[in-house]
Amino acid sequence: MRAALAAATDDRIIYDLDGIGRQYAALRAELPGVAVRFAMKACPVDEVLDHLAGLGSGFDAASPQEIAQALRTGVAPELIHYGNTIKSDRNIAEAHRLGVRDFATDSPEDVAAIAEHAPGSRVFCRIATTGEGALWGLSHKFGCSPEDALRVLGEARAAGLVPSGLSVHVGSQQMTAEAWGAAMDSLAAVLEALNWRGITPTTINLGGGLPALGVLDRHGSPLEPPLEKMFTAIREGMERLRAVSAAPLEFLVEPGRHLVADHGAIRAHVARLTSRHGLDDARQDWLYLSCGKFNGLYEMDQLQYRLEFPTHPGGRFVNAVVAGPTCDSDDAYAQEGGLVRVPHAIGSGDPVWIHSCGAYATAYATRGFNGFAPLPYSCIGGDGAGRQGGTA
Ligand SMILES: *Cc1c(COP(=O)(O)O)cnc(C)c1O
Repeated sequence: MRAALAAATDDRIIYDLDGIGRQYAALRAELPGVAVRFAMKACPVDEVLDHLAGLGSGFDAASPQEIAQALRTGVAPELIHYGNTIKSDRNIAEAHRLGVRDFATDSPEDVAAIAEHAPGSRVFCRIATTGEGALWGLSHKFGCSPEDALRVLGEARAAGLVPSGLSVHVGSQQMTAEAWGAAMDSLAAVLEALNWRGITPTTINLGGGLPALGVLDRHGSPLEPPLEKMFTAIREGMERLRAVSAAPLEFLVEPGRHLVADHGAIRAHVARLTSRHGLDDARQDWLYLSCGKFNGLYEMDQLQYRLEFPTHPGGRFVNAVVAGPTCDSDDAYAQEGGLVRVPHAIGSGDPVWIHSCGAYATAYATRGFNGFAPLPYSCIGGDGAGRQGGTA
């Protein structure tokens, strides 16, 4: 990755396919027998999807467009599920036409629509979680209560669908093992209650939420997620679920961030380092970069990224707020503390390497807010050669 960053003469985002492959293998080793369905929105880049498909991954898609992109990798439709609980009649019919037969759900309305537009399909019900402990909670908008899950899957069965499973999402960049333990407890309770009613789900979808390791929190401190403890909590939870289930269980996991975040990096450049007196008359240094919230660093609301200034490894440093190039004041981080060390001598045009920004970079880029276009991308590794991508 460092060689590719050094070789880049202009801005781009670079994905390391071999790094992503190693991450995939490590996850499979931690969770033996658990099938992976990559959450596409974290990195909808064809080369990345092709590489994961080649390793045996399936896909968690959230729209017919994502399903079509997943199918272009050549994976069988059985390895793609529609993991979004939110879908129109037309979305469901289109997914069904494309061959998808597994649908997430969390409401009777959605179940009725699936029964009408994708008759006979399998549905898995998403159980709500609090999202506590995660940087992005994903609560409220998704998932239903345990009581509702009984009703939703009961109605699914009555409507001729197969009530095949349960799912959860513990929240994105979940930082605690306890959240996994709690999610497993909810799943076990719902599973038992369903079994009592003669409904025997056979698939448990553990969702996403596994963390990136190389990112910093909003104040610039390393996030150190207890990954080993998380995997232990997941493995123990799987045992509990197997023990209460009336039927043999298959497990799926839908990582997004965890597979790609630490294997993507941006080569950007300095727009300018400035020093200004603001309204409160305090002097503040600002580092303006060529990319920001709207073309690669969308998650700067909760994160800081590790920056490297390859042309200025030493010398005097200043502590600066970091900002993207647009006229939007949200396009900045470290405004409330956690200032970033920046070489004092850095000049306009000097390269900046932004590490661990491979997740949610391309998908969240705007079409060119203030004219700042999405970054071109390239991939290294995979077949051995560095490949030029395009604009994702
Ligand atoms: C976004 C999403 C994921 C992936 O989440 P990460 O936190 O990136 O792992 C998985 N499943 C569903 C349903 C999602 O919406």
